Amino acid sequence: MNATLEKEIALEKEKVFAPCIEVNNVTISFKTNNKTVFTAVKDINLKVGQGEIVSIIGHSGCGKSTLMNSISGMVTPTQGSVTVNSKTVKGPGPDRGIVFQNYSLLPWMSVYKNVYEAVDSVLKNKTKEEKHQIVEYNLQMVNLSQHKDKLPSQLSGGMKQRTAIARAFAINPSVLLLDEPFGALDALTKSSMHVELLKIWNLNKRQQTIVMVTHDIEEAIFLSDRVVVMNDGPEATIREIVDINLPRPRNKKEIVHLPAYMAVHDKLLGLLVKNLSIEDEGVMFEK
Ligand code: ADP
Repeated sequence: MNATLEKEIALEKEKVFAPCIEVNNVTISFKTNNKTVFTAVKDINLKVGQGEIVSIIGHSGCGKSTLMNSISGMVTPTQGSVTVNSKTVKGPGPDRGIVFQNYSLLPWMSVYKNVYEAVDSVLKNKTKEEKHQIVEYNLQMVNLSQHKDKLPSQLSGGMKQRTAIARAFAINPSVLLLDEPFGALDALTKSSMHVELLKIWNLNKRQQTIVMVTHDIEEAIFLSDRVVVMNDGPEATIREIVDINLPRPRNKKEIVHLPAYMAVHDKLLGLLVKNLSIEDEGVMFEK
């Protein structure tokens, strides 16, 4: 390979992976009720490039949400720091949209109002008409225009989650943080939500950086560029970061037959079950 080509490739890589989120030596400890200190995650280092989709997987209680919350600003690292677009995270901010498993919609407001309120509180310089257009556009993206006057109690789980996603995208955050956003949905709805999410990400020219917590290997592979596998806690660390080298756009039915898919699926499964062994016909599981 000649030097110019090598330089071009290096520049291209730099462009694609210009760091957006940097987690630097982060340790997070909590004071417990009996006044001892519990360290959930320890010495975590992670860089997420702009426009990248990165999933964090690991067993329940290993510290996925804690790590995610240090990016959202809801948890302050005990040691180390987190930066988003080169600014140190000191609390939640409009540059980071968050979607939780439990939707967190305001129950007394319609779908439209739930999204409008978020837009109104963040995009203060826009006119009323501009805010209206933004809400309409985002509801259309998640196919909810026809249901915009309904209250959350009148929606299915998938529709509630689509509202939460529309709300997060409507404020146009540079980072979207998804904490097991599809965990409560049935398999079919979950599958169509994955497609919807990638559709919106594509419509936004793959500009948004997405970090997602999940314990679903297939979901992580289908959506992500890289998957961060965590060790069990306490003092959880990153076990390995696995590249998902599957071409985009991805078709769910097709990619599962690719050898690369099967290989990465096996690898992730291996990493997750490595520290579990079955003794006594499955009665006892131990590390
Ligand atoms: P995961 O998202 O992987 O299921 P969490 O990040 O929610 O795990 O929790 C990791 C560990 O940190 C758990 O043992 C949990 O009990 C503990 N933890 C999380 N938040 C707090 C808190 N505010 N105070 C004390 N312990 C906490």
